[in-house]
Order: sequence, then structure tokens, then C-alpha cells
Amino acid sequence: MPDTVVSVAYLLAGVLFILSLAGLSAQATARRGNLYGITGMIIAVVVTAFGPWPIDLVTLAGIVAVGAVVGAILAWRVEMTAMPQLVAILHSFVGLAAVLVGISGTISPHVALTGIDRQIHDAETFLGVFIGSVTFTGSLIAYGKLQGLIRSKPLLLEARHGLNLAGLLACVALGVIFVTTEGSPMWALLACAAISGVLGIHLVMAIGGADMPVVVSMLNSYSGWAAASAGFMLSNDLLIITGALVGSSGAILSYIMCQAMNRSFLSVILGGFGGEEAAPGGAAAGEAGEVHSVMAPELAQLLLDAREVVIVPGYGMAVAQAQYPLHELTQLLTERGTRVRFAIHPVAGRLPGHMNVLLAEARVPYDIVYEMDEVNDDFPRVDLVMVVGANDIVNPGAKDDPSSPIYGMPVLEVWRAKTCVVSKRGMATGYAGVENPLFYKDNTLMLFGDARKSIEATLAEFRRVALVKSA
Ligand code: NDP
Repeated sequence: MPDTVVSVAYLLAGVLFILSLAGLSAQATARRGNLYGITGMIIAVVVTAFGPWPIDLVTLAGIVAVGAVVGAILAWRVEMTAMPQLVAILHSFVGLAAVLVGISGTISPHVALTGIDRQIHDAETFLGVFIGSVTFTGSLIAYGKLQGLIRSKPLLLEARHGLNLAGLLACVALGVIFVTTEGSPMWALLACAAISGVLGIHLVMAIGGADMPVVVSMLNSYSGWAAASAGFMLSNDLLIITGALVGSSGAILSYIMCQAMNRSFLSVILGGFGGEEAAPGGAAAGEAGEVHSVMAPELAQLLLDAREVVIVPGYGMAVAQAQYPLHELTQLLTERGTRVRFAIHPVAGRLPGHMNVLLAEARVPYDIVYEMDEVNDDFPRVDLVMVVGANDIVNPGAKDDPSSPIYGMPVLEVWRAKTCVVSKRGMATGYAGVENPLFYKDNTLMLFGDARKSIEATLAEFRRVALVKSA
């Protein structure tokens, strides 16, 4: 395949990736965005396989087949609730790939460079290995934390900032040696890979449960930059474009997440938020008072009487797969003239956009799904809020208890509604491990049990009572 065809095809794939990202920014266009992405990736793979460079097609086909089978099995079997772990492990692969490309390119360079050209190439390689190694080990730790293999409480070593700084300075020194020494010493590259690997572990270990959304998007961004640096090492324009797109969109997402949690990016990276125990006497359960529970028939009546209902989904809705009966309930309420909206917190669930995906899966219309800021001021006018499997994102302590570990994080102020019903199995804390005073408020009713079963029971009661009333 001639060079010009490759360049045009790569440009086309790059444009498709940009269109894909644009499509994925809204639910209504997400499907189209995915199609653009798939088409761009097919073009990229075919052109790379049949391009003007020497590639052993049999070996390539074998490797692609193994990867495709493993990927398809994983994607098929993974529960929606385990998606964040899958994403984290996939980020680690991108990081590892950048490290391996850097090492193999140093062992046997594909072009013989000299002078300043060699130094520029070596700097790209070194940076790629550094970012790749941080991404690889950091993503493995993120996987462990999300999977519950490693506790989410932050590891806060006293000398942590000193350790990070020492690691960074050591890598800078190794980088200077690697770039300026004739023959690009491999030991310097390997030492950088080892030190940055430890840095990756330490950085993510120091991050507490509530900050994990930022970590996931930050590692997403790192994996993009790792891919871009692999593109520089391999002189592959498309890899550079794709990596830069992933890197910059991940960085924007991290910024949005930080804003959603009212945190500065630097303080998240330097660790230690949301992992502490709830302060005694503050938001802790002891001070809070009585819990009022509710059963399905009573909730059905509250729903029948309400004119305005807001549903706040959280991670528990994903676990219970309660979005389907919730959609049915929404339809019945809307048919009766009740205004129903879903309110989505930016870090609800375990993945950016997690709730939006689940609601789209259940075919909830996009126009009744609102962002937190669009609904928060309306709560005093709302008759009934149904919090379904959410906890940290509706914790009043984040707003009014300075001793709360999540103090300062904007939350959905559901307690300002006339009545708030919380559907969850028991009194357990959420991901951040923080007690929730919402459960003890006078206008809060707890609907205990698996969210799907609870909503299905409510739905059945709602139908029954509505039928009796209309007869
Ligand atoms: P939380 O993790 O705070 O709370 C979920 C609640 O769901 C639990 O308290 C649990 O209580 C309940 N639950 C679990 N299973 C069921 C079930 N089958 N039926 C009913 N309830 C159930 O979730 P939120 O969505 O409120 O908040 C998200 C948290 O995750 C935040 O702390 C966020 O920082 C963090 N996070 C978010 C990421 C993202 O990108 N969105 C990534 C990583 C972390 P019980 O056991 O009593 O039922």
C-alpha cells in the first residue's frame, strides 16, 4: 500500500475518532459516536496491517486473534458493575505496551539516528516508558481497589511527598543520562521503568475511596499519553493522534470530576481524601437518631399522591439492575400526569456516565434525565424523592459537617424535598466508607431490601391501588 494512501486513511481514521468523541458526549448521539469509532479503528487496523512497512501478517493475525478472543470473552462476561475494573485493567495494558515498545525500540532501533535526532527520539522513548510504567502499575492498583482486593483507605506514608519527589528527581537524572550518553544505556531506561512503576503504585495507594473517580479518569488520560508516546517511538501518526485524543479527553474528564467533587487536581493526585473514618460525634450514626422505614404499599400511595417526583440512582441500582422496573414506574407516573425526572450526580456509580448508560439501556427517555446542577435548586418543590441504591452522592454531611471526610463535595440535596425515600438493603456505608445522616432525617423513609425487588413490589402495589381508584 503506497505511503499517500496510508496518510489519507490515517487522516480519515483520525477524523472519525474526533467525530466519535463528539458523538459520545451526548446520550442521543452516543450510538452514532460508537459507530464512528469502530469504523475508524477498522480502517486503522487494516491500513497498519497492509501498510508499506515489513509486517509478518501470520504473526500479526495470530496475536490479533488471541487478543480478540480474550477481549470478546471478557466484554461478554463482565457485569456492568464490574466495568470500572475492566477499564482499569485495559489502561494497564496500554501502559505496559508503551514500556515494551520503548524497551524493544532501544534494543533494536528501527531507524539508525544520530546526533540531535537520536537525542530527541531517546527523550520521546524515555518519556513514553516513564508514563507507561506509572500507568501500568497505577492501573493495576486501581483495579485492585475497585475489585475490593486492596482496601480503599488511602495509604498515607509520612514521607510520601518526599518519596514522590525523590522518585521524580531520580527519573529526571536517569533521563539526562539516557539521552546524553552515546549508545542510550538500557540500564537507565530499565531503572526509570522500575522507579516510575513504584511511583505509580504509591500514587494510587495514597488515594482514598471518594477520589477514585478522578483516579480512573486520570489513568485514562495517562494511558492516552502513553499511547501517544508509543506513536512517537514508532513514528506512527495515527497512534499519536489517537493517544493525544484519549489523553486530552481524559484530562478534561478529570477536571470535570474534580469540579464535581470540589477538589483541586493536585490535591487528588497527592492523595488522602474520603478514606478516613467518620469523625466521632459528627455525622456518625450515634448522634443521628431514629430510622423510619416504609413498605411498598405505603410508598405506592406516596407516589400516587405526588405531583412531582425525582429519582436519584446510585451504584446500588446498577447492582440490583433496578433501572427496568424504575422505567416502568416512570411510565405509569407520567401517564397519570406526574412530573418525573432522574437526577444524576457526576460521580454516581463506579464509572463516569455509569447511570446514564444504565438508564439508556432500560430505554428511559433522555429528556427526563437531568444533571445534578439542573435539579438541586428544585428539591424544595419536589413532593417525593426516591434515592435508589445511592449513598455518598446524597450525604448531607458533605455540605454541612466540616468533620465529614467528604465535606465540600457537592451532593444532590434530596433532604430538602417534602419526602425522601431511600431504597437500599441495610444501613451500610457507600464507597467512601462515610456514615450518612440522611437516613435519620425526619422526612426520610428507608425502603429496605434489594432495590429491584423493592421497586417491583412498589410497582405491583401502585398498579393495584391505581386500578382500584379508577374502578
Ligand atoms: P455508593 O457506593 O455511595 O452507595 C451505594 C449504595 O448502594 C450502598 O450504600 C449499598 O447499601 C447500596 N446497594 C448495594 N447493592 C444494592 C442493592 N442490590 N439494592 C439496593 N441497594 C444496594 O454509591 P453512589 O452511587 O451514591 O456513589 C458513588 C461512590 O463511588 C462515590 O463515593 C464515588 O466517589 C465512588 N466512585 C465513583 C466512580 C465513578 O467514576 N462514578 C469511580 C470510583 C468510585 P446497602 O449495602 O445497605 O444496600
